[in-house]
Amino acid sequence: MLDLTEEQREIQKLARDFARQEIAPYSADWDERSYFEPSLVKKLGDLGFLGMLLPEEYDGLGVDTPTYLLALEEIATVDASAAVMMSVHNSLPTSMILRYGSDAQRERFLGPMARGEILGAFALSEPEAGSDAVALTTQAVRAGDDWLLTGTKSWVTNGNTAGVIVTMARTDTRQERRGARGIGAFLVTPDLPGFHVGKKEEKMGLRASPTVELTFDAMRVPSANLLGEPGMGFVYAMQSLSAGRLGIAAQAVGIARAALEAATAYAAERRQFGVQIRDFQAIQFKLADMATKVAAARSLTHAAAAAKDRGENVVQACSMAKLFSSETAMFCTNQAVQIFGGYGYVKDYPVERLFRDAKVTEIYEGTSEIQRIVISRHLYARD
Ligand SMILES: Cc1cc2nc3c(=O)[nH]c(=O)nc-3n(C[C@H](O)[C@H](O)[C@H](O)COP(=O)(O)OP(=O)(O)OC[C@H]3O[C@@H](n4cnc5c(N)ncnc54)[C@H](O)[C@@H]3O)c2cc1C
Repeated sequence: MLDLTEEQREIQKLARDFARQEIAPYSADWDERSYFEPSLVKKLGDLGFLGMLLPEEYDGLGVDTPTYLLALEEIATVDASAAVMMSVHNSLPTSMILRYGSDAQRERFLGPMARGEILGAFALSEPEAGSDAVALTTQAVRAGDDWLLTGTKSWVTNGNTAGVIVTMARTDTRQERRGARGIGAFLVTPDLPGFHVGKKEEKMGLRASPTVELTFDAMRVPSANLLGEPGMGFVYAMQSLSAGRLGIAAQAVGIARAALEAATAYAAERRQFGVQIRDFQAIQFKLADMATKVAAARSLTHAAAAAKDRGENVVQACSMAKLFSSETAMFCTNQAVQIFGGYGYVKDYPVERLFRDAKVTEIYEGTSEIQRIVISRHLYARD
């Protein structure tokens, strides 16, 4: 239903072919073993998919946001873990360094990130600071020309494989808890003294995407690695997360579409009571609802992406897209398991994994409750 340009069709096809040939055959095994395949980073980089929003001077593809989301949806249809790696990398660290970084920081990081030589990660959440991220307690204290970071970050996607981790830490430590100002964003590299990778989470879904705890033990970070202004990191993080939610929305659309496609095919194969189960209206209605929600989720996501590229304020639109798409992913995977019956509950078919993978889209980059708060706040802001 989207009106795609020639270039968008080409990139969509490139992503679809790559996903089907290079990822799909291994997805179930990687999920089973909770295994992250490092060569995927270089392969995605070779395609340009790790610098989709970066200009060509940094070896990026320089495409618009809708085109990036089309590629992301294709990757997500076969492997939600690969998709979140691509989404976090493109939407958060690369975009943040491009937007807020110094010339030297852009020179150092963006080319290697676009080429897949360095993977990016984003460390905001902490054990006691999730939805209430501004309550973070990781401290950054000046030590001569450097900063010393002390604290623990939780849930860092690719935190054990990334070459650069945009890390939010409190630079103004005069009070236990301050507002959004007083938090810095630091470009943390794993070679820094005091950097430690902690527990790797054992997850319900998205098992091929490593999620780890990071601890910083008076980690010495050169001041050249501070992104932008010392007290502005939280503001940068929130601005970037808003657009980043479109990546998660596209990931959710991909998961939902995969569930729809699998269920549609299965309903045509499976026979009960002497007929294909797709002949039952109860099954037809489920498929119709799934198809409608997938189309609506994609439209909402692409409308927000186009508005973002036009420079509009899209905070509410991004939250709407993320909320609706993630709930669509949960709805469609639930319906797909139901259509598969007992076969949906076992690992012989992909819908069991899709169901497990879908859930997290309602949790990370802002839970559904937080998206509803953002959306409703904007309703009142217009009065
Ligand atoms: C697989 C995975 C990967 C992740 N990757 C990253 C990453 O790369 N970087 C990173 O920084 N973080 C990451 N996160 C963290 C993620 O963003 C947080 O889990 C999320 O923000 C929710 O925080 P929490 O888990 O602490 O839940 P809590 O904030 O404790 O929320 C618990 C429940 O309370 C509800 N709630 C909280 N506040 C309110 C409120 N004001 N009104 C109504 N309900 C409320 C929530 O919606 C939720 O239902 C990841 C998480 C997961 C699971």
